[in-house]
Amino acid sequence: MSTLDPSQGDPSSPLKNNHPHKSRTIVMKFGGTSVGDLERIRNVAQKIKIEHDQGNRVAVVVSAMAGVTNQMVKYCFDLDTMPAMEEYDAVVASGEQVTSGLVAIALNKIGVPARSFQGWQVPLITDDAHGKAGIETVDGTAIKACLDQDIVPVIAGFQGVDRSGRIATLGRGGSDTSAVAFAAAIKADQCDIYTDVDGVYTTDPRIVTKAKKLDTITYEEMLELASVGAKVLQTRSVALAMREKVRVRVLSSFDKTDDSSGTIVVDENEGMEKELVAGIAYSLDESKISIRNVPDKPGVAAAIFGSLSGAGINVDMIVQSIGIDQSTNMTFTVSKGEEHRACQILDEHRKEIHFGEVSTSHDVVKISVVGVGMRSNTGVAATMFRTLAERGINVQVISTSEIKISVLINAEYTELAMRALHAAYGLDAEKEDC
Ligand code: ASP
Ligand code: MG
Repeated sequence: MSTLDPSQGDPSSPLKNNHPHKSRTIVMKFGGTSVGDLERIRNVAQKIKIEHDQGNRVAVVVSAMAGVTNQMVKYCFDLDTMPAMEEYDAVVASGEQVTSGLVAIALNKIGVPARSFQGWQVPLITDDAHGKAGIETVDGTAIKACLDQDIVPVIAGFQGVDRSGRIATLGRGGSDTSAVAFAAAIKADQCDIYTDVDGVYTTDPRIVTKAKKLDTITYEEMLELASVGAKVLQTRSVALAMREKVRVRVLSSFDKTDDSSGTIVVDENEGMEKELVAGIAYSLDESKISIRNVPDKPGVAAAIFGSLSGAGINVDMIVQSIGIDQSTNMTFTVSKGEEHRACQILDEHRKEIHFGEVSTSHDVVKISVVGVGMRSNTGVAATMFRTLAERGINVQVISTSEIKISVLINAEYTELAMRALHAAYGLDAEKEDC
């Protein structure tokens, strides 16, 4: 309704209490493209004003302007391939500092009282794993005091402070996690993540044009999809939302259509009809490493994978196949960025473990289908293998969890496989008559 009295912002206004909307506490988080230039920052300020004018208590969390963090990261690594990560954090956290101030200026300019907060001013306390720090505690007191005075806090996402007082950042994409953490700390009714897509899709619409927007998705599905390559939310933010029971909604900051409700991440038992498969994701950030002639005896896999995990390398899919003379071949995947280190580590252990040739391959893609419906339904895997086989696509490695099946295939079949699977699981959007 546009009949709001401008004195809405005043907490003493009688209108506020009589307003049909019950006052709710909302966290609104805006990603890099949503605050990518001043025009977009003005647009974001208008969106915040609408929520605020409806009598809601609104806390805002912002990312850096699109491209800024990449530039900062590049500066650091151009100077030194191994910079001190405390200094790296001091540099890369600056993007969010800028947007928090700019959004506060834009809000004040249109009559919405606002102020910026840096992570250390909240404070959001992290561990000291600089560059990808974990959140230890979030003190909601200052933010709540701000809301009580009807001032909109505009908080720099992605950043906090470690116990020794140094600026820390939460890993790339970390402002989603900040938003969820603040929402939990102030017990917000909802955490709205504004981005450049209007919700979570069954798959990447740039690859499968028949992808559909989902109205709801469960925490677990979102978590699996995020972890296997869907880029809408940082994986950690979903895990945190699930643990803290924060109601997360993903929506577009550009949307001008009626259907701007986005996608709500819900509990599995929130009673919606369950599709067998909620979504399909792909990741090209996979490197396949094969080790030949590994002795087939107890303790060998432990030695190989123990040495890799000891070096902090995350091994994803694993398959073992019969080799010659009491030996096996081991194949597994790591992210492309970790391949070089992984091969170095294997080389260091070659003598004691006694294995043969190590080879790597990059032209692979991991495709994953995810759905809580898999728990109670069989046949999801069979459909996947049949669909790929019918198109002559060879499956190189398979891995599964309770609600996910992933296959590694040749990257040249990415689009073909995604489209075929999307259709096979009945996810294609119905086309209008044409
Ligand atoms: N600005 C940071 C990044 O680009 C954090 C974020 O946007 O979530 O990774
Ligand atoms: Mg993001």
